[in-house]
Amino acid sequence: MEKTMKAIRFYEPGVIKLEDVDIPVLEHEGDVIVKTKAILTCGTDLKVYKRGHPKVKPPLTFGHEFSGIIEVVGKNVRNFKRGMRVVAANSAPCNECYSCKKGKQNLCEELDETLIGFSVDGAYAEYIRIPERIARQNMYEIPDHVSFQEAAFTEPLACVVNGNEIADINLTDNVVVIGAGPIGLLHIQLARARGAKNVIAIDLIEYRLQKALEVGAHHVINAKTDPVGKVKKITDGRGADIVIECVGLPQTWENAIAMTGKAGTTILFGGAAPGTKISVDTHRIHYEDLTIKGIFHHTPACVKRALDLISSGIVKVKPLITKEMPLNQVSDALELLQKGENIKIAIIP
Ligand SMILES: [Zn+2]
Ligand SMILES: [Zn+2]
Repeated sequence: MEKTMKAIRFYEPGVIKLEDVDIPVLEHEGDVIVKTKAILTCGTDLKVYKRGHPKVKPPLTFGHEFSGIIEVVGKNVRNFKRGMRVVAANSAPCNECYSCKKGKQNLCEELDETLIGFSVDGAYAEYIRIPERIARQNMYEIPDHVSFQEAAFTEPLACVVNGNEIADINLTDNVVVIGAGPIGLLHIQLARARGAKNVIAIDLIEYRLQKALEVGAHHVINAKTDPVGKVKKITDGRGADIVIECVGLPQTWENAIAMTGKAGTTILFGGAAPGTKISVDTHRIHYEDLTIKGIFHHTPACVKRALDLISSGIVKVKPLITKEMPLNQVSDALELLQKGENIKIAIIP
């Protein structure tokens, strides 16, 4: 095995460099080294690239949605061996902190300690080290019929599964998904799988609305054209049973609540900037039995379910990969992503 590899390193907002760095080595006997085969671009990567991120201490290899082939396993690794095709999530819980013991592993207080692409080197590279905690809890062999690119959707889909589960969609519910990027397009498919009667997608970009129809939305609404009024119209004036906001702007959060009907649930899936605020009609929350829920990240159960959903074909991720690019074009890929005419770009080392 060679000693060095190509990696995309983040230095400061707007500055990433393709560099030759040492191939990662085992730091613990439970670690695994994976040769990457597919890495997916993510909106979070774009944010890190453009603005930096409080959790990212540069220089750092970023990227966190990936799959590959095992190159090296530590002495204490069970169930995995060299040559296996695997996918891993970007984190795993400690199972010992207050949040973990409360059953909220997605909020594990030690999440940041081994967060791939944020606190430890990530996936835009030819090799990646999977820390022991992740290898043990959140790494899986990829079924033969699932491609590396499809398997790499496991992590974002795990977050979507977490949101879908708390949304608690019932048969024949009217469901709105605001934001038809990769996350919204996955939510649309899960809402269909749960038996929603109408799945309504809202976005500003026509290209994404077309994608929403392609993956199963019944109705699409351009966000510029009175989305609240149009949702009311489709739902006989009542508003939706479930609204899932996947944008992360205070204005869309307010719209999401405004288009939620009586006894409905608003899921605030898109994270808004720290310190931003929304205003909500208190009268409606009380007299209309509204439920407003935030949701963040994933648990090991969600990760397992996500891979099952991909493998079984219940969720189709192939239509969400709209381009392939080589590792030396990550910055171009992220620029393209920002233009809104791609859903996810697969980086192939
Ligand atoms: Zn991501
Ligand atoms: Zn924990």
